[in-house]
Amino acid sequence: SVDEAKAVAARAYELDRKHVFHSWAAQGSFKPMVVTAAEGSYVWDGNGDKLLDFSSQLVNTNIGHQHPKVVQAIVEQAQRITTIAPHHVNDQRSEAARLISERTPGDLNQVFFTNSGAEAVEHAIRMARVHTGRNKVLSRYRSYHGATALAINVTGDPRRWANDRGTEGAVHFFGPFLYRSAFHSTNEAEEEQRALEHLEQVIELEGPATIAALILETVPGGPGIIPPPPGYLRGVRELCTKHGIVMIADEVMCGFGRTGRWFAIDEFDTVPDLLTFAKGVNSGYVPLGGVAIAPHIAATFNDRPYPGGLTYSGHPLACAAAVATINAMSDDGVVDNARIIGETVIEPALREMAQRHSSVGDLRGRGVFWAVELVENQSTKAPLAPYAGTSQAMVEMMAECKRLGMLPLMVSNRIHIAPPCTITADEAREGLEI
Ligand code: PLP
Repeated sequence: SVDEAKAVAARAYELDRKHVFHSWAAQGSFKPMVVTAAEGSYVWDGNGDKLLDFSSQLVNTNIGHQHPKVVQAIVEQAQRITTIAPHHVNDQRSEAARLISERTPGDLNQVFFTNSGAEAVEHAIRMARVHTGRNKVLSRYRSYHGATALAINVTGDPRRWANDRGTEGAVHFFGPFLYRSAFHSTNEAEEEQRALEHLEQVIELEGPATIAALILETVPGGPGIIPPPPGYLRGVRELCTKHGIVMIADEVMCGFGRTGRWFAIDEFDTVPDLLTFAKGVNSGYVPLGGVAIAPHIAATFNDRPYPGGLTYSGHPLACAAAVATINAMSDDGVVDNARIIGETVIEPALREMAQRHSSVGDLRGRGVFWAVELVENQSTKAPLAPYAGTSQAMVEMMAECKRLGMLPLMVSNRIHIAPPCTITADEAREGLEI
């Protein structure tokens, strides 16, 4: 009954606040939402209220909640075999690696599995360091790469740093971002060219022979959903090739259909040396991440052992979920759906909204991956919340969205809109209306 469900939710909340220590939160004042059920594009909270999930949780439920084929695959795998050491062969792991290799760009044909995005980043950098014999890692400001020791240090976002800054070799540079251009550019072509010139100088002054890798999110997600100008990634690729630097595309958030392509980098005609993924690979039903590896990097470890491993690398439950997710995405045209919903429903609705509200400073995105940047004033661009914090206005907006039945992500002064890639046009309109 409804009363019983509410009692279970109340008990869960009470135990949570007593015993669960939450990510990124001030534990004392944190008031998390209880989720009691989920299906498709919706979740239900502790009061039994139905909310449209415009966040895909943490931008991971790309195939929607409780997809029956994925749930069934997990159940069947659990009944067959639940754990297999990484040095043995498992059919689901082999098949997941094949399906991923077929979809990753170019010749990225081998996969090292991890349990999370941060671990994928750690291992990609490890591979690059051993491959090159160099140490430094270049990464961008306005980036997020994970919360483990190295991943947090290459992350270019002060909101994420505690006492971490200072890992040897982590060097940040500016990426292109026309709305708040570090280069005072006035158009996209100028921004692209100046960002590449800036990167070339950073490489020169850091010393190319000391730089193992350059890691960048194809479309920076957490820091603001910032698609690059059309030729930027090709330019980065050329600089990396010229200087023997391993190019790592971090597609943990923007990969697996989110931008309306299997991988965001597909739009930019560029093949990195390594590509990190997680989240959407199996919609987060069971933790899974990984690194897709180009042959020339993999060859480094043909005759010498790869110095790294994880007990749960390629866990059969997670891989079974990935096989079912990728097959369902292919069979149901989920990637195309994300692109079409983005082009025909989300973007036009946001552009129309921007006409009516002077607080909308900038709109950016692709597919089902959009940011609405809110400002006090369109000419000064003063943000409605500080970069590394929030504001009363944003807190109230979030509460109002929830009250009206929609759950977006609020990050700094931005509303991030990231529903499942399976969202229907009617559901998308319902959320956009709110
Ligand atoms: N890289 C990117 C681009 C991400 O967005 C994230 C998480 O949001 C990560 C890495 C870290 O992934 P995880 O939280 O699974 O460790």
